[in-house]
Amino acid sequence: MKIAFIGLGNMGGGMAANLVKAGHAVRAFDLSEQALAAAKEHGCETFTSASEACEGVDAVVSMLPNGEIVKSVYTSDVIGKAPVGAVFLDCSTIDVATAREVAEAAEAAGYAMVDAPVSGGIAAAEAGTLTFMVGGSDEAFAKAKPVLEGMGKAVIHAGQAGNGQAAKICNNMLLAVQMIGTCEAFAMAQKLGLDPQTFYDISSVSSGQCWSMTSYCPVPGVGPKSPADNDYQGGFATGLMLKDLKLAMAAAETAGVDSKMGRRARELYEEFDAEGNGGRDFSSIIQTLK
Ligand code: NAD
Repeated sequence: MKIAFIGLGNMGGGMAANLVKAGHAVRAFDLSEQALAAAKEHGCETFTSASEACEGVDAVVSMLPNGEIVKSVYTSDVIGKAPVGAVFLDCSTIDVATAREVAEAAEAAGYAMVDAPVSGGIAAAEAGTLTFMVGGSDEAFAKAKPVLEGMGKAVIHAGQAGNGQAAKICNNMLLAVQMIGTCEAFAMAQKLGLDPQTFYDISSVSSGQCWSMTSYCPVPGVGPKSPADNDYQGGFATGLMLKDLKLAMAAAETAGVDSKMGRRARELYEEFDAEGNGGRDFSSIIQTLK
């Protein structure tokens, strides 16, 4: 397929390279010269505008920082520029309302569109092992699936437009709450005189077991290798977790849901981020609980 790829940053760079490996012709655009040069090295053809990159394509994939940028790129440079009948896949993490608004505008102009945010970080983007949660009609999903399969290990249809974003923010809200709970449990166990490894050995095979404990333990030297073993560098940045929690709380307000734990998690990550920890892995919040 001929695919336009817009937004070749930490995530998009690896994803576009995997589409080339999967045999697609990738037409790349980013505002950053450096990102474009890297895409060229990975076999993409590069362009100086999104609208040029969209000429004659079967699909447009975007991986952009936020909803405002996604809306502006699609309304100014993609809708009306890509051939009618093309499928659009926005893989960025953005708010549900904007995802639905952009999909509606695209469909009204004769395109198919899905929101397809991802689970998995930069390493999964490079390895082609992302999980995509996809919102859109059955027809749009069928057109998008072969493109997503070139970049991920799992592609799951979540229902109507916007449902991919809904799944993403609900999942990440749960992850934040679970991580804070895991950190509190380790901090308290230690204060009560339990060795962290001993607590891990017990809780990892008991009812407190969760992903934040057994796949991403916030205590260095305990459990499988995680960002805690690398001074909390790499992994999933606190600033990105805070972005997702803000989106989750905005969605909770729109939907009239009183999510008390989600709200508290946002407050705690907001404080932690303001203390200069935005670039550190989100599990480093354990250091404020000790
Ligand atoms: P990034 O900042 O590294 O990349 C974004 C890219 O978009 C940059 O290269 C930037 O130059 C480009 N860009 C911005 N405005 C543009 C425009 N108008 N036209 C063309 N290009 C433009 O960010 P990232 O880490 O790659 O994240 C991208 C998206 O993926 C975000 O929505 C983020 O929440 C989501 N996400 C990131 C991770 C992660 O671990 N980094 C994990 C899951 C989801």
